[in-house]
Amino acid sequence: MKIFKFGGASVNSVDRIKNLKSIVASHQQERLVIIISAMGKTTNGLEKVADAYFKGNKEEALQLFNVVKNQHLTTAKYLLVLQYNECVQQLNDFFTEVEWLLHDKPVRNYDYYYDQIVCTGELFSTCIISHFLKEEKINNQWLDVRDLLRTDNNFRDAGVQFDFSASRIKAAIEEFNGHITITQGFIGATDDNESTTLGREGSDYTAAIFANILDATELTIWKDVEGVMNADPKSYPDAQLIKELNFNEVIEMAYYGAQVIHPKTIKPLQNKNIPLLVKCFLDPSLKGTIIHHKHVKNLPPIIVNKEHQVLMHLKTKDFSFIGEEPMSILYQIFSEIKVKPNLIQTGAISLQLCLDDHEEKIAMLAEKCSHLFDVQIEKMLTLITIRHYNEEIISHLLTNRQILLQQKTKETIQTIYRTQ
Ligand code: ASP
Ligand code: MG
Repeated sequence: MKIFKFGGASVNSVDRIKNLKSIVASHQQERLVIIISAMGKTTNGLEKVADAYFKGNKEEALQLFNVVKNQHLTTAKYLLVLQYNECVQQLNDFFTEVEWLLHDKPVRNYDYYYDQIVCTGELFSTCIISHFLKEEKINNQWLDVRDLLRTDNNFRDAGVQFDFSASRIKAAIEEFNGHITITQGFIGATDDNESTTLGREGSDYTAAIFANILDATELTIWKDVEGVMNADPKSYPDAQLIKELNFNEVIEMAYYGAQVIHPKTIKPLQNKNIPLLVKCFLDPSLKGTIIHHKHVKNLPPIIVNKEHQVLMHLKTKDFSFIGEEPMSILYQIFSEIKVKPNLIQTGAISLQLCLDDHEEKIAMLAEKCSHLFDVQIEKMLTLITIRHYNEEIISHLLTNRQILLQQKTKETIQTIYRTQ
């Protein structure tokens, strides 16, 4: 059994869906579960629908939803002939559910409505792709993952109930005689049948859960890049492909903010020692990157850039030392407002925190800290993390930067500088 995951970019046009088909066609003889995201920017579009609806702008919400609807109907029209009517019937059922919801006034919290609306992107995309594969004589079963993946009701960041989901998933795959199953990433449902989502970019995680539960031989994530690079090629033109990585290295990279793979993806794979392949859907003949348990030597420097950073300077009001007491209060505040500093530097009477610039959270944190400390905030900063650094890369990347703070371990150097 193999698991494939196709992200939004790999299904964002008629041509790309045809490309997906040719990749799947060359694996028709294998048992395959294919996890698919919403097409292109659909999730962002649906987020706007949810926002408008919750703000009470019903007409705007319906209009925005209409745009999403038409995009999918157009794609279906280009791809389907024989399967067209059946596909549109199924799409219409999904559309109607959302439209009913949009007609009523919101009585529950935002996150609940977000999930009921945003989850449909994956239902639309998989519905069209499953019908298209059938049209192309690639037999497959389409499953609504909400019948299989049981979660808690922590909407927008739902926690998966593994045991229950495992028995459902195994049954659904085992009952099926054919080879190919198509289902959605990113979404699930509670035991009350309310839809949930697992957090943005969560489809990788769904794919890893399926791989774990089905004891897959491997998981392949199909992307528009050659594989995992040692830096973002958009900012570093000489970024290079890393052919082989250890699970732990990828966890570190994700922790520091590399947008390689959803951070939760690795654990389910690592627990069962299932290799993860990151491959390019534009040229499947390329080998891509293999991520597995083996120790990998001689990695190139790996660069992770985080922009929109804030440095919060905290200083005790009466020049007293920062001992365990204020420290523990500070950590309590982090957990209360759910912030996680990207870097902390402590001194005798002062402390510096580097954080993502989420305006609301920063304001809340500053307010709470101001009872204990004098607070100063610097904005417009970049945090650059370099793993496996050497002198050459440091001087290449950091010369002429206005450096505010730097921390170094044997493996990793982190530097905060003013964004130019
Ligand atoms: N469609 C969702 C998103 O854009 C999930 C995913 O793509 O993994 O965040
Ligand atoms: Mg995506």
